[in-house]
Amino acid sequence: MARRLIAGNWKMNGLRADGTQLAGDLADRIAAEPLTCDLLICPPFTLLADVADAIDGSGIALGGQDCHGAAKGAFTGSVAAAMLVDLGCSHVIVGHSERRHGLGEDDETVLAKAAAAQAVGLTPIVCVGETAGERDAGSALDVVSRQVRHSVPANSGRLVVAYEPVWAIGTGRVPTSDDIAAVHAEIRAVLRADRPDAAAALILYGGSAKPDNAAEILAIDEVGGLLVGGASLTAADFWAIATSCD
Ligand code: PEP
Repeated sequence: MARRLIAGNWKMNGLRADGTQLAGDLADRIAAEPLTCDLLICPPFTLLADVADAIDGSGIALGGQDCHGAAKGAFTGSVAAAMLVDLGCSHVIVGHSERRHGLGEDDETVLAKAAAAQAVGLTPIVCVGETAGERDAGSALDVVSRQVRHSVPANSGRLVVAYEPVWAIGTGRVPTSDDIAAVHAEIRAVLRADRPDAAAALILYGGSAKPDNAAEILAIDEVGGLLVGGASLTAADFWAIATSCD
């Protein structure tokens, strides 16, 4: 089985001094105590260059929080996947719910972004997840499998999927272990059936993962790691989550 991945999504937080300090703290910790999982941090675009320097040689991977679906061109304010590679990124988050629901990105847009990432050698972390209303209506599995079918490129050698129920992000609410297991099993089944090249892709859970629930979530079948938002902004918390893989 592939090593598990603990990924930190810093969202729109941090100035250069904060970001460099947080990344440097993590680099110091990993130098002193190697992990059994892989660590990835996804700072805002403005911090990528500084954070790349701070984690250089540490083994911590760097990722973007988004990229455009086109290789380059007249897209003011956007960032191309190749620009992320140029700054040392290996991963990029696409389809985060704050973009799907906050900025109206649909599956087609997410698919284009994931394909653009793969085209330049980045691993897209394709986020999927149901809203509270969809879960209450009993359609969580349908929604998630539709999102995977329509947002993951057809030939996907390089892929991570993150199951992030919208209602669990930043709320302190976490699905039951059975519900997480059911959705992860559904994602695995869709990948095996429709994306055989990516059948073994890591499937992360994201949504209010914290030091005190990480070990329990990581013990669930098919959970290949965590995508962590709020708790990735504090080195001690993110580190405690990462050591929960041991
Ligand atoms: C996220 O934004 O991807 C996330 C999981 O956030 P949080 O951990 O804060 O719920």
